[in-house]
Amino acid sequence: MNVCVIGTGGREHTLAWRLNMSPSVDIVYAIPGSAAMTDVATVVDMKWEDTDALVTFLRDHDVKLVVVGPEAPLVAGLSDTLVAAGFPVFGPSKVAAQLEGSKVFAKDMMKKYDIPTAAYGVYSNPVQAKKFIAETGAPIVIKADGLAAGKGVVVAMTLDEANAAVDDMLEGNRFGDAGSTVVIEEFMVGEEASLLAFADGKTVVPMIASQDHKRIFDNDEGPNTGGMGTYAPAPVLTEKLRDQAMETILKPMMAAMAAEGMPYVGCLYAGLMITDQGCRVVEFNARFGDPETQVVLPLLDGDLGEIMLACAQGKLEASMVNWKNSYATCVIMASKGYPETSSKNDVINGDLSTTDNSMIFHSGTKLDGDHFVTNGGRVLGVVGLGESLQEALDVSYARVNGITFDGMQFRKDIGQKAFKHLK
Ligand code: ATP
Repeated sequence: MNVCVIGTGGREHTLAWRLNMSPSVDIVYAIPGSAAMTDVATVVDMKWEDTDALVTFLRDHDVKLVVVGPEAPLVAGLSDTLVAAGFPVFGPSKVAAQLEGSKVFAKDMMKKYDIPTAAYGVYSNPVQAKKFIAETGAPIVIKADGLAAGKGVVVAMTLDEANAAVDDMLEGNRFGDAGSTVVIEEFMVGEEASLLAFADGKTVVPMIASQDHKRIFDNDEGPNTGGMGTYAPAPVLTEKLRDQAMETILKPMMAAMAAEGMPYVGCLYAGLMITDQGCRVVEFNARFGDPETQVVLPLLDGDLGEIMLACAQGKLEASMVNWKNSYATCVIMASKGYPETSSKNDVINGDLSTTDNSMIFHSGTKLDGDHFVTNGGRVLGVVGLGESLQEALDVSYARVNGITFDGMQFRKDIGQKAFKHLK
């Protein structure tokens, strides 16, 4: 079958790469894709927002499965439009994507269905918000309700910081409508892990757990980013904890969404905090994580096209999803100024080819003549595979050391947190 991936980033490069290896897949189209994705897909210069042109293209090219990568088209309802036009789509409907698009929606669902998460309050009025903060105490977490590209969360260590975040969002209008309501949450203590799962509306099958490194600098210092590196499997999520997360979080949420008349289809992403009381939810996302995808999909032992089509058709079976018994690591190389700004058009030198045990997925590059140049904050995801975590890391960093561009930044401590669990 022919499939189409919507999106441009490192996640979509990885999805296209893995789909291109699937026995069930003939041609992978990427819309709008990127120059780097031509190694694994036919890149089509078209905007997903132009849904008439998109539907015509999909019909003309006999596309049998559409995979929507990023959250923005999901929250805007692209899946609904394509499903109505008769295409199987991997990616939730507009109402189901609220699990990511509205933190108030996600928290209210978790409360209603007794899914473990931080205690919270919802406020549009700054006076009431500050009263709740004063009563709860610091540390405390302030979150803009809507999508804010990962920047709408303030983990406040003091009451002053928390009150300033409320002023910024509710009075300063920092995030526009996305921040006109805030969720204020209890601060949870623990280590984080990402558990992604395939979902077909009824059945949910977990992927292997991974762990992101959100801060820009080593030792988790500096501001939050979209993610500076990942590894999988993440040993902090033991089999027992993974089973607990399935029974208390992912399965109940799937049942809850179906019960509310918005069955969830696609990748259900649970951001977990592993606390003394077990797994609790930090956030849900309505799509694959970036850069979690870059380490999870290389370890999949199965036909990704078949699995995603089964999700879209409500026919997912656990036996379709198996995992290789090895490790994957991803080191993100970012451009100068990230995360506050980014630098474009810096020439990228070095070997960007794929090998048997390493892949370079492009997050933000473009072609300038015959050279790739930087074109965003996160530039490349350098993936290594190995029998052990150390072996995978050695491969990733050896490849990183062969790549240079002006102002490049990367973390040197990806995966280090895992070793205490492996000993
Ligand atoms: P992204 O989309 O980039 O993953 P987001 O904007 O949706 O992020 P969250 O994932 O909800 O925001 O929060 C960002 C980070 O803030 C989390 O990864 C976690 O480190 C921290 N955080 C969020 N909520 C809490 C909490 N209740 N207790 C402790 N830390 C938290």
